[in-house]
Amino acid sequence: QRNSSGEPIHDTPPHCLVVPLPATGHINPMLQFSKRLISKRIRVTLVLTRFVSKSITAAREGEFNVCLESISDGFDDGGMEAAENTRVYLDTFREVGSGALSRLIEKQSDAGEPVHCVVYDHCIPWCLDVAKKFGLVGAAFLTQSCAVDAIYNHVYQGLIRPPVTEQGILRALPGLPPLKSEDLPSLVSKFGTYPAIFGALVGQFSNIDEADWVFCNSVYELENEAADWLSKRLPKFTTIGPTVPSMYLDKRLKADVDYGFSIFKPSNELCMNWLGNKPNGSVVYVSFGSLASLGSAQMEELFWGLNNSGHYFLWVVRKTEEAKLPKNYCFNPEKGLIVSWCSQLEVLASGAVGCFVTHCGWNSTLEGLSLGVPMVAMPQWTDQPTNAKFTRDVWGMGVRAEDGENGLVMREEVERCVKEVMEGEKGVEIRRNGDKWKNVMKDAVSEGGSSDRCISQFAGSLINQVL
Ligand code: UDP
Repeated sequence: QRNSSGEPIHDTPPHCLVVPLPATGHINPMLQFSKRLISKRIRVTLVLTRFVSKSITAAREGEFNVCLESISDGFDDGGMEAAENTRVYLDTFREVGSGALSRLIEKQSDAGEPVHCVVYDHCIPWCLDVAKKFGLVGAAFLTQSCAVDAIYNHVYQGLIRPPVTEQGILRALPGLPPLKSEDLPSLVSKFGTYPAIFGALVGQFSNIDEADWVFCNSVYELENEAADWLSKRLPKFTTIGPTVPSMYLDKRLKADVDYGFSIFKPSNELCMNWLGNKPNGSVVYVSFGSLASLGSAQMEELFWGLNNSGHYFLWVVRKTEEAKLPKNYCFNPEKGLIVSWCSQLEVLASGAVGCFVTHCGWNSTLEGLSLGVPMVAMPQWTDQPTNAKFTRDVWGMGVRAEDGENGLVMREEVERCVKEVMEGEKGVEIRRNGDKWKNVMKDAVSEGGSSDRCISQFAGSLINQVL
């Protein structure tokens, strides 16, 4: 059916199930991607696990603006934390989740909301098998950078055999700059640590050739060489990022989107009031994301490094990490603020933040780039060392805090890095680069930009399919 201008008319938009792994750094980007699909006239149901879904209050659900459904991962009462280990969790999720996802697809069909496509988190590739069983379109969603995906693909193909421990420069991989072992994902350089997660990240490629689309939460212009290499290897590969709400990329847009998903309660008012009376670019914002755990000796070094730098600091220390703060620590509350969680995007966008001390989780890295905030990279594990390498050496967006001989980033190093970004020549250069990347990121998801075109193509093909 077409209207008088020849445009197709469709009353029932195509319906996508979007299934993330139940972790903040996976749900957030897939929620934002869902919103972009909705803006392209796709009906989206975000499928969360029962445990995560129970932890969202009704008020937050209202903010989501996306239909929600839940399936069991086998741990309805405690989620991932309740599993004996990650391997048990992932195996149980596959077993229980495959049946639960199948039943959800049937239920939607019975309710007159047939599903046309499943967009699934790359760490749970069994979702693709479920989609194919029902003859649906299957789309993988890669939550890491192109570079990191390329490295894991090399491992999958046997082109890199971990452990890669030599300290020398690794022969440059196609599409990537020369990498030392300290620049590789920790699961590759420290082979044997977290084998279940390593298995999932290599295993994501086991059935990916069956996928109709492979979306990567990155930006073509940011990683064009790695993206080109992956496109040759995976012909369905495209970039759709950054999954940062448009209002943060373009100040002219109204604040009509939520701040994303979080199982932690943000202290937004406290943070924003505190930031409110600080001069532009004067605050060091410190966060290690939702999972990374620092030792108490590292927390103490960080604390003193921030204090000694003399700059204002806003530090996110999750409730579970609080006990590791130095005993009897004290500081001037005008000079520093420690909160258990905040709305990171709102903080980074506030203008008061001049430096982001980050673990370089991929979402945090994209957020820093999107808002042009200079970073001090303090990577902890998984993909973070590679993101740190690119942040400093490829995008010129920050410095990297180096470990001392004892494996800790010492207070003098924290102070040096913060001062270099906040006061030094380097800071000026980084801020200049920040202005450039900010625009690149915004353009990618603006109408006609590289990521926007990919999303439109996907939406268009689904719409054509239901006509
Ligand atoms: N985040 C937040 N408030 C905080 C700390 C983090 O909203 O106080 C968000 C941050 O904006 C990002 C996500 O949590 O979207 C963390 O994802 P990332 O990939 O950076 O790290 P992970 O938690 O997966 O290690």
